[in-house]
Amino acid sequence: MKLTPYKILIVDDEDMTRTMVRKVLTDSGYEVMDAENGEVAAEACRTNRPDLVLMDVRMPVLNGFDACRLIRNLSGCERLPILMLTALDDVLSVTLAFEAGATDFVTKPINWVLLSHRLKHVLRNSETEIQLRASQTVMARAQKIAHLGQWSMDLVENVCHCSAEMREMLGLSGVVDVGVEVVQSALLPEDRPLLPKFIESLMAGVTDSTIEIRVGAPGQQTRHLFMSGDLVRDDGGKPLAVFGVVQDVTERVEASARLAYQANFDEITGLPNRVLFRDRLTSALERHANGGPGFALLVIETSAMQLAEISSRPEVAQRVLKAVVQRIEALRKPQDTLCRFERERFGLLLNGMGNEVDAAEIATRLIDAFSAPLKTEDMEVMSVIAIGITTFPADMGDVDVLQSHCVAALERLKGNTESAYQFYTEEIQSRVVNVMETHVALYRGLARGEFELHYQPLVELKSNRVVGIEALLRWNRPGGLMQMPDFFVPILEKSGLIVEAGDWILRTASEAALNLPLVLSVNLSPRQFQDPELKRRVGRLLEETGFEPDRLELEITEQAVLVDEQRSIAILNDLAQMGVRVALDDYGTGFSSLQRLKTLPLHTLKIDRFFVTKLLTDKVDAAIVRSTIDLSHELGIRVVAEGVEDDATMEMLREYGCDIVQGYGISRPMNKAKLLDWLSTSRYSAPDF
Ligand code: C2E
Ligand code: CA
Ligand code: CA
Repeated sequence: MKLTPYKILIVDDEDMTRTMVRKVLTDSGYEVMDAENGEVAAEACRTNRPDLVLMDVRMPVLNGFDACRLIRNLSGCERLPILMLTALDDVLSVTLAFEAGATDFVTKPINWVLLSHRLKHVLRNSETEIQLRASQTVMARAQKIAHLGQWSMDLVENVCHCSAEMREMLGLSGVVDVGVEVVQSALLPEDRPLLPKFIESLMAGVTDSTIEIRVGAPGQQTRHLFMSGDLVRDDGGKPLAVFGVVQDVTERVEASARLAYQANFDEITGLPNRVLFRDRLTSALERHANGGPGFALLVIETSAMQLAEISSRPEVAQRVLKAVVQRIEALRKPQDTLCRFERERFGLLLNGMGNEVDAAEIATRLIDAFSAPLKTEDMEVMSVIAIGITTFPADMGDVDVLQSHCVAALERLKGNTESAYQFYTEEIQSRVVNVMETHVALYRGLARGEFELHYQPLVELKSNRVVGIEALLRWNRPGGLMQMPDFFVPILEKSGLIVEAGDWILRTASEAALNLPLVLSVNLSPRQFQDPELKRRVGRLLEETGFEPDRLELEITEQAVLVDEQRSIAILNDLAQMGVRVALDDYGTGFSSLQRLKTLPLHTLKIDRFFVTKLLTDKVDAAIVRSTIDLSHELGIRVVAEGVEDDATMEMLREYGCDIVQGYGISRPMNKAKLLDWLSTSRYSAPDF
């Protein structure tokens, strides 16, 4: 329904008629505009479209017929109701008016009572027509969007009537009425028998019968159609016809297929993912329970990806990943399942291979396969692979237990520089138990104050003075020896306890160094570094202890940075903003190119002990140390050499321009009391200690 009043345009050259019509129509609630000739009327229609035009046929300038024609041709006025005012006896004018496109006519002299009714009637018709056309358009569009077509079938004549949409879906051109067999022929051969069955079921009175059928000429995309139908009977109950709709559901079917695929497969490699692998492993266990053979389970990890990811772009890493998969796939038998767990870790289920000798042979062949470099179009990578193995039923357990055993075996190989495999053994089992016990003991130890910090001095070569100390964590485990961090820090890290312990370490160390004129170095594990609260933790510490930020140097490793490089840079910038210094620890043990140093806001680089100890004997190591020092200096980064155990090494480093040295050659790490003692007597100390 229209809410605003209808707008009527009166066109007449007689002022009198216009005035009277205006009066009558305004009284009836219409809004009225007028025009004194056809030209003005056409212009009024263009600029202020009325709902109805009432127009005299006889007018100067442009007569009513020509004006009517002109208005009809205006865009938006094709269906505008136009009533012509004609003389009662003027039959010719009526004919001409209709020819010119008038909707109706009103005779002069005007019957004022009837006029208003007449207009109402015409306007209502016009509105209904507009609504009908609108709903037809909407319907057609909706059908198009929903990919809907209509069909009916005359059961007496046995012909199908297909709408244009349906014919398009079926790829049938031209004919509207066709035999069932023609519709059938458009379907994929294996779906053809479905159609008569469907019609039979409709005829048998199944009311909610539907089918999904596929169409597609050879070489063309297969489309999925969803068909439903309703049976119509005659008065005697005899089936007459079926009416139904058909919908193109290809996109929906494909989307759900894609979802199912994504749920079970790894997108990059196309290998099964851990979900599907679990399924296959469960089946293998079930087969064994029903008298089937055993199997071997391998977890394989390669270093290739890490290398590729670090050196360049993601697509390069993907190509390397695919090359890795190819190598493993080449050794896979059809009955085996290879899956990608995550990143560079894969699972291999060897069905029917329950004995260790066979499994070891496969593992050896895998290692051999990786002894040659992986080649992709942009790089060649040497990859170390590590394989954890367990065999069933020698090793008993459910899916989770077997997988965790494999991973425990794999982890024994961590840090190996050569490819190797490792079976899950009782010794590993006891180690796993041991790790759990240690975790519990560490948890208690933290609460009971069993941790202690030792401090190792750092000496500046230029001045031969102590300029800093590094805090190193110790654990006085009850009833045992003092435990070293290489053993327990990884357990703290894995359990997340390191974050809590880290607070204690920072606080204790900064309190110890508060009144010493030295830079304090504190180690941060990857987890601590990535902790979203890091900035707040450090900020609070500095505030509460009053420790100067530029006397605190946090030591992080490349691994910590690599977890998420973009985020790491943001964290480093945050720390720099607080005025805190950052050192890159263990340089040389990771995968860093010197290049990447440029992108990180660092103050200090610590060259790993591994290179420093061999400085005098290994020319390559000496060259690495030397160029690292030079490049760091170019970037404005100072260099610390770790693990300096003798004077000769120290002299060599001095010659290379190294800034600072640290190592047993100067002092072992010591507790706070011993440190203060040492500082007051050492030849490296300034007199004011
Ligand atoms: P790091 O940060 O590389 O620490 C240097 C390690 O080298 C220390 O071992 C130190 O005692 C040892 N060292 C120093 N000079 C020499 C030398 O001349 N020769 C030899 N052979 N070794 C030397 P430590 O104290 O056993 O610490 C081992 C690792 O544990 C540290 O390596 C660090 O990664 C981690 N760690 C130690 N304390 C903490 C801590 O408070 N928090 C965190 N997150 N990690 C820590
Ligand atoms: Ca360190
Ligand atoms: Ca180090």
